[in-house]
Amino acid sequence: EKYFLLPVLFSAPSYACKRRTTLKNHNTLLTEALSILAESAELNEDEGRGVAFRRAAAVLKCLPKAVSSMEQLRGLPCLGDHSMRVIKDILENGASSEAESTKQSERFKALKVLTGIFGVGAKTADRWFREGIHSLSQLQESGHTLNQAQQAGLQFYDDINLPVSKTEADAISEIVEKAVHAVLPGAEITLTGGFRRGKLTGHDVDFLITHPEEGKEEGLMPKVVSWLESQGFLLYQKTTRNSYLESKDGPGRPASNMDRFERCLSIFKLTKDRCVGQKQGTKQSATAVRVDLVVSPVSQFAFALLGWTGSKLFERELRRWAGHEKAMSLSSHALYDNKQSRYLRASSEEEIFAHLGLEYIPPTERNA
Ligand code: ATP
Ligand code: MN
Ligand code: MN
Repeated sequence: EKYFLLPVLFSAPSYACKRRTTLKNHNTLLTEALSILAESAELNEDEGRGVAFRRAAAVLKCLPKAVSSMEQLRGLPCLGDHSMRVIKDILENGASSEAESTKQSERFKALKVLTGIFGVGAKTADRWFREGIHSLSQLQESGHTLNQAQQAGLQFYDDINLPVSKTEADAISEIVEKAVHAVLPGAEITLTGGFRRGKLTGHDVDFLITHPEEGKEEGLMPKVVSWLESQGFLLYQKTTRNSYLESKDGPGRPASNMDRFERCLSIFKLTKDRCVGQKQGTKQSATAVRVDLVVSPVSQFAFALLGWTGSKLFERELRRWAGHEKAMSLSSHALYDNKQSRYLRASSEEEIFAHLGLEYIPPTERNA
């Protein structure tokens, strides 16, 4: 018998929501370069270009091995000419000259610093950059009036830009649980976002709160926030009503009740015990952590859970799949079937995948 050495050919479905993407990435050199270019496009508010690079990076993230030659990529979806040039550059030269020069550009560096301020998006950062503001000190000297979020963002800049550890996320979970149970016994708290996908660090901690009895969750957020405030856990918070509107026969509740779906973007004060030598024992020190809280009625819980678990690209691809392949509209509230002109109910993520004609992908495999 003869054996031939053939290159490993990769293949993958073109929708990220049909792929199993764990945190094990065999192509970090490639995906990091493509992510820099995606980030740069997003900072330039070029969403189309950003998504194209994100999709290319996501395809490489799910490959079972490191890419070693361009031939292996034949037949893979989502790899456009530009992404292919970037990959070729890295395979041939060990790095992408475009990603490297982007990373070192004054504009990219400045926009990263400025959008690192909580409450500052790409638009604001770009405006400031064009006014010659490239650093935090230049911003402070500029005399610009900052809103409350931005003031807090600047005040806690260093802490907020430090990754949140799983240990810190667990400590925050305990606090949130205590707060929620103090104001509504029986309410349920679920960790969502990157930590639910198994990530060991995050830029924030995300929670979804519900109550098994529909309607019991009403008015919960302000009470939770008051409790947290009274205990001194909040450095900043802004509660916003969800603007989502739905027709009267939507799942669970009439349109007039829809504005009860609330979200709170906050900054928590987390005290940690830090050992400062055996004689003195321990001394308290504090850090600031970004926390997102969402309250959902139980009838919408599965949709909210799916929508807040991410990754962002996985979510985007789920909605694209629903719209383009199934004539359905998926949101964090509901799934609407355009052909049947009705909402499809679901009480678990598994049911939503089934409605969408997709194999179930668990959270740890949604790291696209
Ligand atoms: P990280 O570890 O960096 O926090 P993450 O995946 O948790 O990563 P987040 O920005 O916290 O990222 O978002 C978590 C999820 O919440 C994402 O899937 C995103 O789609 C969803 N999400 C974030 N902001 C909104 C929003 N304004 N409306 C609806 N969903 C949102
Ligand atoms: Mn998060
Ligand atoms: Mn978040």
